[in-house]
Amino acid sequence: MVEQAQSMEELMRDAEVAEEPGDIRQGSTVASTSNGMTMTASELNSAGYVYVYDTQTGARSTVNRNMLPGVLQKRRANGSYFFSTKMPDVEIHRGTIKCVLHPDDENRKKYDSYGFITCNKSNFKTRLDRDRHLRTRHKRAFETLQTEEARERQEADRLERQMLTKTLSEMNQPKPTTKNNTGGKDG
Ligand SMILES: [Zn+2]
Repeated sequence: MVEQAQSMEELMRDAEVAEEPGDIRQGSTVASTSNGMTMTASELNSAGYVYVYDTQTGARSTVNRNMLPGVLQKRRANGSYFFSTKMPDVEIHRGTIKCVLHPDDENRKKYDSYGFITCNKSNFKTRLDRDRHLRTRHKRAFETLQTEEARERQEADRLERQMLTKTLSEMNQPKPTTKNNTGGKDG
């Protein structure tokens, strides 16, 4: 993998400088791996802090710069790195599908007219996740949209049936021929 070919020095240099983790309680875990390596806040000193990102979930942790080389060298069973100082993969892992009630939604105007709240959640990985969120978190909107959808589907079905009936009746009508035209009563 490309990112794995990157030198440790490069990753160290690119590390984003983090705020001093004043809100991290002493002894609380700030980074841990399944290899059993755990860092606790008591191990942090004032050497400066940087952010590292879980390469699979994108979860961000604050890491003391002194600890960074060790953290960055930790690997999963499949050989991939646990943490990276870079975030590029994160967007992919987090998902980018927006909540139906997101301000950017193409139907926002209509939703405003329904009095729907706005929701800024925008990291669903699948439409199924998004739909589940809508169903559980925005009950009123979900029910309204369901009713509307059902009505639209009924209307679409009706129009389709109408079209079909028309097409069928046209097919069953004898095609006008030259013979019919000569004796036509419209003439
Ligand atoms: Zn939402």
